[in-house]
This record gives sequence, structure tokens and C-alpha cells, in this order.
Amino acid sequence: MNLSTEFPLTQTTVKKRNLLGYDLAHMKAFFAEINEKPFRAVQVLKWIHQFGVDDFAKMSNVSQALRAKLADIAQIKAPEIIMEQKASDGTIKWLMRLEGGNSIETVFIPEDNRGTLCVSSQVGCALDCGFCSTAKQGFNRNLSSDEIIAQLWVAHRTLNQLADHSEARTKGNSQQKIQDSKNRAVTNVVLMGMGEPLLNFNNVVEAIHLMLEDHAYGLSKRRVTISTAGVVPALKRLREECDVSLAISLHAPNDQIRDQIVPLNKKYPIKELLSACQYYFSGDTKKKQFTVEYVMLAGVNDSEKNARELVALLKKMPCKINLIPFNPFPNSHFSCSSSQVINRFKDILYKAGYVVVVRKTRGDDIDAACGQLAGKVRDKSRRL
Ligand code: SF4
Repeated sequence: MNLSTEFPLTQTTVKKRNLLGYDLAHMKAFFAEINEKPFRAVQVLKWIHQFGVDDFAKMSNVSQALRAKLADIAQIKAPEIIMEQKASDGTIKWLMRLEGGNSIETVFIPEDNRGTLCVSSQVGCALDCGFCSTAKQGFNRNLSSDEIIAQLWVAHRTLNQLADHSEARTKGNSQQKIQDSKNRAVTNVVLMGMGEPLLNFNNVVEAIHLMLEDHAYGLSKRRVTISTAGVVPALKRLREECDVSLAISLHAPNDQIRDQIVPLNKKYPIKELLSACQYYFSGDTKKKQFTVEYVMLAGVNDSEKNARELVALLKKMPCKINLIPFNPFPNSHFSCSSSQVINRFKDILYKAGYVVVVRKTRGDDIDAACGQLAGKVRDKSRRL
């Protein structure tokens, strides 16, 4: 059947380009393509990411003719925010609906001296780690670069609006103003939300370029962290293309245990993973250390013997260790180690000379705590 004769098109429908996820190189290429000067790329990048503008008409230093031209062929479109929750400890969680109906969660965690945004890179995850609620959803799709950067864009915009309100509220109270502004800026980004970032390499790297870009968010490489379960070949590629900070989801002191709880280990065992980490840091004196993430699972990986094995395994590795109390979720087969066991485990690592942090649970009252980040997305998506 010839559709054009059956259903003649009266108007050509052209999908507008979404400029939200374009890094500087991509933006310059876009402006070259439409016969405009490269400096326009910088102007538009600043409007989008530094001023949070999503309407070309508001770009006052861009000529009216170009604003009209851009509005015809392009757009700045972030996913729709369908829920914003604030926890009593200041943690903020956004649930955003993507095109096609999927949803993702993003969490902002304010602390005394920093504000960390936990960003998702995929809808669901294919790696099936046994202790992870996202894994239970299976894998749906990779996020595009604009869907990844949109999470920072939304957070940055929201926090700026809160800061403006605070400015009005705290007039004359400079101490309060300083405290509020400290609590309301994204200073660090961790790709630790839903998904394995290194399995969505190109889109993640393009979004990171924007995070680091001076004309966008200007974050330093040390303040952007990729957390990976250990996709070894991609780690090597990452070193060449975008050597940001690294966190490794290790969670076990030996292959026997790790095979059970991080199935990717069967493909890239611990030895290969640690040697890829060493390669990642080789020849760069500025990068000091990577983070080892270790979820504390009662009776699985939390014995004193396990702690001593971990000490031996990480000997001479430039790393610090984050112990993460497990957050149970419905139908999970694990429970969290007791605080006594966690402290004993921590002491063994500490006495062996490691910097060890037991991660505090944050945003508990809105299910934003680590491991719960995406736990209810699927249910919520269904309900919505
Ligand atoms: S822990 Fe990370 S890599 Fe493992 S299933 Fe969950 S989201 Fe995927």
C-alpha cells in the first residue's frame, strides 16, 4: 500500500533538535550546520545551563532573527517533573517522566560542605546485582545525553529558585544566607543512580563534558564520579576520553562471593577489575585514589575473615572504602549487617591503614536512600 497516496501529508513534520544534551563541540557543529558563527554556541550553552533558560525568546544577547530561526528548528526540552519530594534532612528527590512513558529518579543530598546530585544513566539495569532494587526492574533502555544532563539542569534550576526565595527571606541575616546557599548548590555529581553508566558510554561521556564545561556547569573532574560494577574494557576507554573520578562497586573480597552478588564478575573477575583500576590511575599524579563501594550484607560478606581478605586484596591500591549499610526492599533476600558487625569490619580496615567511611542513610523518609533510589519507580510509573 502506498501510504503517501492513501494518507497525503499536507505538512512536513520535522522533529525539532533538542539542544539540552549538546556539549560545546556538538553545539558548534550544529551552529556551523545552520550557517551561524561558533560564538553563538557558547552564548546558547550559557543560557541553557548557567541561566536555566528553556525558551529561545529569553536569550537577550542573541539577535531576534536567530532566536526565531532556532525556535523553528530546535528546542530545549527536559523530561517532565512528575514528583518532587523533600526529606526532613534536606534531601530532594525528583521523579521525571521520559518520552515513551518511563520514569527516572534523581536525588540531591545536601551536606555541610557540599551538595551531591545522584544521577541515573539508564532506565533499569541489565547487570542484576543481587542486592539492588533497580536490578529487579530489568533493563529498559539507555538514557540519551539530554536525559542525563536534564537531571543536573532540573536540580540546578530548582536550587537556584530556592536560593532566590531564601535571598528574599533572609534579607539582613547574612549568616543564614551563607548557610542556605551552602545547602543549595550542586557541587558534586555521582553517576550512581539507576543503571550502569559504562554500558551507556557515549551518552554518559557527552553529558559529563557538559558537567565539566566552563560555559555550562564548570565542575572539576574530581567532583564528577562514575560508579561502575566493573565494565573493564570501558574503563580503559574512559581513561582516554574523560578521566573523571571513579567508584568501584566491589562488594566482596573474593570472586566466589562476588560471582553470587555481582554477576558481571563472572565476565570480568576481581583481578582484571583491579588491574583496570590501576591502569586508570597510572601516570597521573593528580588523581589520588578511587572509592571502593562495599554493601554490608548480613552473613554474606561481613565477617572478620572477609574484612582481612579485603585488606589483602586492596593492598597497595590507591583507594578509600565506603561501607554501605544495605537498605532492604520488598522481596530482597538479604538483610543489613548489624551496626556492631559494621563497626568491627570498619575497625579492621581502619587499623590496616585505609580511609573508611560508613555511609549515612539519607532521605529515608522519601525512599531516597542508597539502594532505594529507583526501588519504587516501576510501581509509580504504573500508577501514573
Ligand atoms: S547495583 Fe548498579 S550495576 Fe548493579 S544492578 Fe544495580 S544499578 Fe545495575
